[in-house]
Amino acid sequence: MSFTMHGTGVSGDIAIGFAHLVSHATLEVAHYVLPKQHVANEILRFDAAIEATRQEMEGLREHISGNTPAEFGAFLDMHLMILNDSTLSKAPRQLIEDQQCNAEWALKQQTDSLLAQFDEIEDSYLRERKADVVQVAERVLKSLLGHPSHAPASISPEQSSILVAHDLSPADMILFKQHQFAAFITDVGGSTSHSAIVARSLNIPSVMALHHARQLIRENELLIVDGAQGVVIVNPDKHVLAEYKLRQNQYSLEKQKLKRLKTARATTLDGAHIELHANIELPQDVAKVRESGAMGIGLFRSEFLFLNRDDLPGEEEQFLAYRKVAEDMRGLPVTIRTLDLGADKQLNGVTSSGTNPALGLRAIRLCLAEPQMFQTQLRAILRASHYGKIRILIPMLCNLPEISQSLHLIECAKQSLAVENLPYDTAIEVGGMIEIPAAALAVQAFAKKLDFLSIGTNDLIQYTLAIDRTDDTVAHLYDPLHPAILMLLAHTIRSADKVGISVAVCGEMAGDSTLTRLLLGLGLRVFSMHPSHLLAVKQRILKTSLPELTNLVNKMLKTEEPEKMHSLLARLNA
Ligand code: PEP
Ligand code: MG
Repeated sequence: MSFTMHGTGVSGDIAIGFAHLVSHATLEVAHYVLPKQHVANEILRFDAAIEATRQEMEGLREHISGNTPAEFGAFLDMHLMILNDSTLSKAPRQLIEDQQCNAEWALKQQTDSLLAQFDEIEDSYLRERKADVVQVAERVLKSLLGHPSHAPASISPEQSSILVAHDLSPADMILFKQHQFAAFITDVGGSTSHSAIVARSLNIPSVMALHHARQLIRENELLIVDGAQGVVIVNPDKHVLAEYKLRQNQYSLEKQKLKRLKTARATTLDGAHIELHANIELPQDVAKVRESGAMGIGLFRSEFLFLNRDDLPGEEEQFLAYRKVAEDMRGLPVTIRTLDLGADKQLNGVTSSGTNPALGLRAIRLCLAEPQMFQTQLRAILRASHYGKIRILIPMLCNLPEISQSLHLIECAKQSLAVENLPYDTAIEVGGMIEIPAAALAVQAFAKKLDFLSIGTNDLIQYTLAIDRTDDTVAHLYDPLHPAILMLLAHTIRSADKVGISVAVCGEMAGDSTLTRLLLGLGLRVFSMHPSHLLAVKQRILKTSLPELTNLVNKMLKTEEPEKMHSLLARLNA
């Protein structure tokens, strides 16, 4: 039966492929029946995965470094206990034997039945251990997936698979960077959530907030995903399929045409030069940055180096990662944002505290509360600064004392390196993200203490309009054209100009080419976005004359009615 589902289009383009259902947290649990003669081998494979996981965890336990919070040790001990319990390490063997099924499926069934038992427990502490069981089972599954048995041929190859999940965390998403799926669709998620941002960085179509996709779609069903319109068509008929194949070709032709702009300078018709930088999550993203022709990296979300692992990356590991990015960018500026952990990006084993994690101990607040962890990162960044043009960017600043404390800690890190005779860029620039409305309103004072500013519109919009960016039930309230947002943007850009420091926008607004002229009209001259958006934004800049924007943008700043605002934007883009 053919049917259509509507959600939030997160990443453009069209994909056509076969559904591959995944359960929570990247666990792609396929189910297949094995020939009888393969059962004994499958049990051995399961045992080997348990043993590999045990060794990995014991290894981690032994090598916990001095700057790792104490809870990590206790957390690993508990996970080892769960792993060693026969309900997880032995019971699935019997299921493999009885059902002649693959090891992943046996483990999944056993985990589900354990989790159901946890729900019955009254003691809240014990009930909360459910998450730990899931994490241990995930580890074993990942080990199994690293050593796959021979799956039947009916399992579709990655390139034409469309992942269908209920929810995927930013940490899950980042793991998918290693695979080549055709598209992602999920039941929940807002379009500026970090999961969506990473999905966009994978450069494949993606639709979120479909609500019942995981329930209604079956494994291997044919799907069309239209990431621009937020539409998913399940089992399309041949006419619909032909129409979408045509559109798919048109998209790829347009993309090819845009590639010609790679080396063109982003200059407006009246000769103003605009700086276009790229956002990255991991060092390997630099290849895409170079392909896009970006002038530098305006935002390296360094916290992604900390996800999907049970220990913290030490100074040396971070130094090597940052140095690689700096060297690969060959002298172009690389803006490393210090850790923005918390809210929807949590370390393994840490659950967000407080009822409002987005308003809690996140980003610079967490770093100032964990100075040792922060020092390790600052030393690594400073050491890498000797090998290229690195800048430090502090996220989520809300008051001047946070700036003074951050600058003080940067100074301490510099002094400690000087004592050890380790080289670093003594003139390294330190900037701040403007993403809390209070920071935008008080921006002039901030600007006097910093070398540059970068406006994080994703959070600025979340905090100004009081909409959780991960919650799709309020996603319709996300509005970059809200008069309050335009006022805050205009005020921040003007204030930075007055103080004489550079200001960029590095939130998703910067990569939306329908907003390029508006931002230019507000005075913005530096944009940072995912590399896949850069050429479309450049194309818009090349067709723009700045003096022609002033009148309409001034009108927009005085407009209160949403319909009028949208019609002014349409005129601006005409
Ligand atoms: C932002 O908030 O706009 C931003 C760029 O940072 P992040 O999306 O990582 O919170
Ligand atoms: Mg932010």
